[in-house]
Amino acid sequence: MGRIHVLSEHVANKIAAGEVVERPASVVKELIENSLDAGATRVRIDIEAGGRKLIHVSDNGCGMVRDDALLAFERHATSKLKNDDDLLSISTLGFRGEALPSIAAVSRLRLETRDAGETSGTVVEIAGGRILTVEEAGLPAGTSISIRDLFFNTPARRKFLKAESTELSHIASLVTHYALAHPEMHWELHTTTNALLVAPPVATHSERIYQVFGKETLDELIPLAAQMALERVGLPEPPPWRREPEYEPPTPGELRVHGFTSKPEIQKLNRNSIFIFVNGRLIRDKVVMHGILEGYRNIIPPTVYPVVLLFLEMPCTEVDVNVHPSKTEVRFRQQSFVHDFVRDSVRSALMAARPAPAFTNEIHASASARVALTPLLHGSADDGFHASAIDPCAVDLPQAEAGAAGEFSVFSLIPRQPLPRNGALPFDGSMEVEGNGAMGAVRIAAQGFGEEGAEAQSANQSGAQSSYQYANPEAVPETASRCALPLDGIDDAMDLSMLCTLKPLGQIRDSFILAINPQGLWIIDQHVAHERVLFEKILDERGRRQVEAQRLLMPIIVELRPAQQAIFTEIAEELRRNGFEAEPFGIRTIAIQSAPAGVTADDVSEMLQELLEQLEHEEQALNLEKIRTRIAASIACHAAIKVNMPLDTAKMEWLLAELAKTKYPMSCPHGRPIVLRYSVKDIQKAFKRI
Ligand code: ADP
Ligand code: MG
Repeated sequence: MGRIHVLSEHVANKIAAGEVVERPASVVKELIENSLDAGATRVRIDIEAGGRKLIHVSDNGCGMVRDDALLAFERHATSKLKNDDDLLSISTLGFRGEALPSIAAVSRLRLETRDAGETSGTVVEIAGGRILTVEEAGLPAGTSISIRDLFFNTPARRKFLKAESTELSHIASLVTHYALAHPEMHWELHTTTNALLVAPPVATHSERIYQVFGKETLDELIPLAAQMALERVGLPEPPPWRREPEYEPPTPGELRVHGFTSKPEIQKLNRNSIFIFVNGRLIRDKVVMHGILEGYRNIIPPTVYPVVLLFLEMPCTEVDVNVHPSKTEVRFRQQSFVHDFVRDSVRSALMAARPAPAFTNEIHASASARVALTPLLHGSADDGFHASAIDPCAVDLPQAEAGAAGEFSVFSLIPRQPLPRNGALPFDGSMEVEGNGAMGAVRIAAQGFGEEGAEAQSANQSGAQSSYQYANPEAVPETASRCALPLDGIDDAMDLSMLCTLKPLGQIRDSFILAINPQGLWIIDQHVAHERVLFEKILDERGRRQVEAQRLLMPIIVELRPAQQAIFTEIAEELRRNGFEAEPFGIRTIAIQSAPAGVTADDVSEMLQELLEQLEHEEQALNLEKIRTRIAASIACHAAIKVNMPLDTAKMEWLLAELAKTKYPMSCPHGRPIVLRYSVKDIQKAFKRI
């Protein structure tokens, strides 16, 4: 007798169920998506024991007639697809017809449903995939599904469930994000003891963020909106000989994005606070993730992550959602388009806002909550730039306790507690001000250089930029300014254009400039401020081929390792254009004859070594733009005013004025913050005046 046999459908169902139903949150996700597909405007979720005991989802969607209520539990039974052509243009969240049978196979399920057009509804009870009862009943229109005893018949899976609180936090996070994606709907999430979320419909995403997270979080986010016409369609067209006479070429459509990115001083230790929706579907995706992080490149350090909520919309033919059983992964037909669009949209939003970092800036983080459906990418191989160079610019601050490192920072529904402190800077003797995450990172962050991106080289990239239409944030309904939030008295919104109104008072330890204006007290890191000024100046001069150089009195001899030699050869020409002239001087030895203005003879060799080392460790192919920005960042770092350098008032004024003129006064080319602000409101709060 042969060994191979076909599994019974019952067993097959259980196997497949493993793919769709990983944990309680995945059940909730499937049920919510069904409610959304059914056109519901109200969804209520009830959870007992982290979903192990009960998951109940009820909606006011279209409901099902009796026959459909039974068919729904057949594998591959769906109302959302008819033929394989439909697979190319899926506009619903579900389409595989797998969720209900998979869930029913591993739980005790009760379905109550009534189609709005019928007078009575249907109740179906199933346990472990077997139908127990089917009854007619008087029911409200819509659908309600309760899942009891999840995994009761698959003990191995049950054993792998995490603590109830962990499972609940996954569910809460998931529901929150669907609630954020659909502000027009009424959402509720309850446990037996708590109402975790009650969010009646609102008009805008900003209002929904306010409802769910409060004003402080909203203040920490920058609204973003952009659209771009696609140049072509992603799917291949049929060849001419196959086209019908009335064939019309498809119109390419457009990419749209809206959402929120966080101000640069919000720095998370992992990617769990980045949420990506594509056509209403919560997904994890490397392409979009990379685009977002590229948008932040040189604005925040490469080792930290922003908070981002991104809603991408595109023609459904541009995205293949049939990639993974749980439908959390997608494939874009025009990946690099999507990537660059995301990157440039994030960049533009950050540029337009030019926000000034404040002292208090951690979005409330809950250590216990983690998100099931966020990308769990580890490390940052795809960041491609981690240099180990010791930062010559490190400031001798008492090192902030890195206690925050390793803590999970996600949006959570747990009521706000006092903000977590990354490190407290003693301030004015008696009062403490919270340092922002980046302050702690000043000494520990690996130094990284990256491309400056589109903005720094507008000359080269204006072509690309001009094809984009960035919606004016003012014109977008979802802006913070539009939604009617109870703003209290003092408006402390300010941006860095105010830098030129600052009056310098003096320096702390000859390193940090203290300055005031009517909006508050500002602290400026003099080294990184000058670094930013020089960085932009060098790139600009390079664009106009006018980089200043200085001849060295004596050539400086530098010995190179073979790998360094190879890189040096590759970038020699670009170095020369940046004022760096060197000639071969024996085997793997070069003589530097001139250096960029501002870099002293003592620094030249070290700078070159550092630069070569960084480029050597670059994982991605070097391109001219990358080489240029790295050279510029290197020169800027070495030519800039150092810490521990006394500055007179005129010099401080000059520096602030120059900084005000830069495109990114908020962070240095390595992503560290330049300016910290202590607003009048913060001061009043600290003195308990408000
Ligand atoms: P899919 O969503 O991929 O079609 P499911 O197994 O999730 O597969 O659901 C099967 C079918 O059951 C759906 O196509 C839909 O017609 C119906 N259905 C499921 N949930 C609901 C609901 N909440 N309201 C109305 N119809 C539903
Ligand atoms: Mg479904």
